[in-house]
Amino acid sequence: MSERLTPSAAIKDAAAIILLRQDTDPANPEIFWVKRSDKLVFLGGFHAFPGGQIDASDAEVNVRNAPNPETAAMISGAARELFEELGVLVVHGGEALTKGQRVSLLDDLESGRMSWPDLLDHYELHLDALDFTYAGRWVTPPFNARRFDTWFFLVNCPPRQEPVVIDGELAGGEWITAELAYDRWLSDQVVAVPPTLHALRTLAAGVTPNLVERFLSIPHAHGEPARRITFRPNYICFPVRTPTRPPATHTCCYLVHNSKEMLIFDPGSPYEDEQQALAECVDEMISEGRRVREIILTHLHPDHVGGVNALKAHLGGDVPVAAHAETASTLSEVQVDRLIEDNDLITLGGEPQINLRVLHTPGHARGHLCFHDEKRGVLLTGDNIVGLGSVLIDPPQGNMRTYLDSLERMRSLPNLGVLLGGHGPAIAAPYKKIDEYISHRLERERNILEAFRSGATSPKEIVAKVYTDVSPKAHAMAERAVLAHLEKLRDEGLLGIDENGS
Ligand SMILES: [Zn+2]
Repeated sequence: MSERLTPSAAIKDAAAIILLRQDTDPANPEIFWVKRSDKLVFLGGFHAFPGGQIDASDAEVNVRNAPNPETAAMISGAARELFEELGVLVVHGGEALTKGQRVSLLDDLESGRMSWPDLLDHYELHLDALDFTYAGRWVTPPFNARRFDTWFFLVNCPPRQEPVVIDGELAGGEWITAELAYDRWLSDQVVAVPPTLHALRTLAAGVTPNLVERFLSIPHAHGEPARRITFRPNYICFPVRTPTRPPATHTCCYLVHNSKEMLIFDPGSPYEDEQQALAECVDEMISEGRRVREIILTHLHPDHVGGVNALKAHLGGDVPVAAHAETASTLSEVQVDRLIEDNDLITLGGEPQINLRVLHTPGHARGHLCFHDEKRGVLLTGDNIVGLGSVLIDPPQGNMRTYLDSLERMRSLPNLGVLLGGHGPAIAAPYKKIDEYISHRLERERNILEAFRSGATSPKEIVAKVYTDVSPKAHAMAERAVLAHLEKLRDEGLLGIDENGS
């Protein structure tokens, strides 16, 4: 986590393989899914299919029966990723290769002794497009810094080959029926993205003659980014474009719902088209028999409240807005109808019952709230922890000491399975993320104290010494963070000056 500003990312080509078990039961097919390593920046800790970014050299491979060069490059990249991640080699001419020979080939590739095209050439192996059934392409929604245009292929695992999870990008993997895998998601045991869930649902209905048609039956399977993202059941993330801080471009609005009721967190967009898109989603959920119980604000920042009035008006004006008293007293444009405070419990009637415990977690803002669903292991973290970019602690709303206390409190919660933050994708390795946040702040603080003691006393001077990894464009923000650290250090008596800073 750094304050470095990154330009909004270009969409990169990627490919993934949905590997079907050899001779699997078509009525209840088994697939190989993997758990991505917690260490990965992109979707760390998520359950997914093997795959990754296309290399330039993937296009140099001659793929038989490929309809065009683009498809050939995607198939080549998908096959390479499958080989690198699971040791499974989907080639012709390699049927006689022993397991040991495949391992040595993989070593040639991984060590860089041979490129993927050279390796295939050298061993007279070739790829055939007929082994790879196209199952759609999905584009990462724009709320993420890393975006991919990922082609999915269904592939039968070749005879006498068994996937082996190779240490590195993956933390695990297993054969599982699509139905059971989907059940694991339904019972809150895994975190996954829409294309994974779509594949599991589609395959759970069996390998039928119209399987590909079903895979391609939705616009998202043709490159239109999904708007509703359900990293976990009952929690829809609906990113809306907002005037927020780079690298984020969107704020995550959450629709927490069950059969009868829903809560809407942080409808933050001031833009009419985005408000309209959200309203359509809400209307659809209402038409399925739910009522909107409340609009809830995690905190007062404009990128979290910018669409509240429009949504309230759209819903007829009588849906209450709830927030912490510190938020209510500072907001002028938005009227808060109900105050909520630490330890309140919000219960949604209907099926399944959902209990959200309110946590007052100041630091980023005085009235900042998080919401904890202990049973499901979900924590809505607002802007205290985000899936993209960094959290600004800007005094006087921002306070570094209370922020660190809030992080410690979140760290102490039992059974956290996922963090849903105000920006960026879900965080599937919650404790690791919170630890990173805490240690990052403490490291900065040590460096700031050191700089202060060696004579740099103004935030500007300290930033120049300490924030050497941060673009000069971000220095103004960094100065605010330094100010927050200095306030904390002064309160703790570590600056050797009195309360008034004299
Ligand atoms: Zn904020």
